[in-house]
Amino acid sequence: MTDVAGDPYDLVIIGAGPTGLFAAYYAGFRGLSMAVVDSLPEPGGQVTAMYPEKMIYDVGGFAEVRGRDLVEGLVKQAAPFKPKYLLGRKAEKLAPVAEGLELTLDGGETLRARAVLITAGIGEFTPRPLPAGDGWLGRGMVHFVPSLQAHAGQHVVVVGGGDSAFDWILALHPVAASVTLVHRRAKFRAAESIVRQARELGTRIITDAEVTRFVEAPDGTLEAVDVSIKGAGEERLPANAVVAALGFTADLGPIESWGLEISHRAITVDSTMATARERVYAAGDVAAYPGKVKLIATGFGEAATAVNNIAVALDPEAHLFPGHSSNAE
Ligand SMILES: Cc1cc2nc3c(=O)[nH]c(=O)nc-3n(C[C@H](O)[C@H](O)[C@H](O)COP(=O)(O)OP(=O)(O)OC[C@H]3O[C@@H](n4cnc5c(N)ncnc54)[C@H](O)[C@@H]3O)c2cc1C
Repeated sequence: MTDVAGDPYDLVIIGAGPTGLFAAYYAGFRGLSMAVVDSLPEPGGQVTAMYPEKMIYDVGGFAEVRGRDLVEGLVKQAAPFKPKYLLGRKAEKLAPVAEGLELTLDGGETLRARAVLITAGIGEFTPRPLPAGDGWLGRGMVHFVPSLQAHAGQHVVVVGGGDSAFDWILALHPVAASVTLVHRRAKFRAAESIVRQARELGTRIITDAEVTRFVEAPDGTLEAVDVSIKGAGEERLPANAVVAALGFTADLGPIESWGLEISHRAITVDSTMATARERVYAAGDVAAYPGKVKLIATGFGEAATAVNNIAVALDPEAHLFPGHSSNAE
């Protein structure tokens, strides 16, 4: 077993969604050292995975903000405090040790923490698979698009019929050489307005169709996909990238066996955001109490409450009220 961190962190945050990212800033503001673990390869949680190109209208201080820009702002806000990001790593086990807690990640590495804040949202996302793309993840196939520019000039095939499939079409249209949608049904789950927008852009939409094969170029990259269309046989489409936007399943997974009080896939907390386990707190979508409203704005408030209470739990001499950030140097 490797110790990823050496000395214990004051705080290990599990989940780099909006709540976890804001908690990282706040922990830095309170002078706590911190690491942030997330099973996704990019920060931003649901925003990055499901709606990075959508406008959000209910985050205080922004009349409107694109999901991607909100996440970028949160990462920038935390950056001066140098959070240690452990992305693409899943938190598996949480055990008490002499100095606090020991978190085991997938792969067996361990992290020690004086306190843990769980901001795991709706849990770990598992993308619904595209069987024909088996073995192509990361070498031509993606489930979400961290950078639109990575697809500049490419022929992109988007597979799916929900809101995110159409969001990707609208977002990729200005940068890609071509964008084609392949959907296995005749009807879409996506809102009619975005389907209309995609049609107005002249996007080719192939329904009642399935991607059956990824075609490899001599240099090992993706060059095309074969599509089987009901009643019309097979067609080969040029494709440098496939966005498999078939949705995600989400699951709290290992967190459910950590001895916390869990109801309806959320962790019960008190008004300090403390859970049933000592020095383990929760905030954001994953935290539950009577009257809870699952929103980004709520998660921000809960992150501040949790971290200020953690600061006092770690140092009983510390003040709960942190002082105003506007007075900080
Ligand atoms: C399509 C859509 C539109 C939305 N629009 C709005 C809106 O307009 N306004 C608004 O306020 N809210 C909106 N929401 C809800 C909002 O996105 C959530 O409330 C918010 O993302 C919750 O943030 P969070 O950080 O608590 O959790 P999440 O964003 O869910 O992040 C949790 C993170 O924890 C990670 N994780 C979970 N388990 C583990 C583990 N064991 N190990 C490591 N990592 C783990 C996950 O990978 C994830 O990245 C929308 C949601 C969706 C799906």
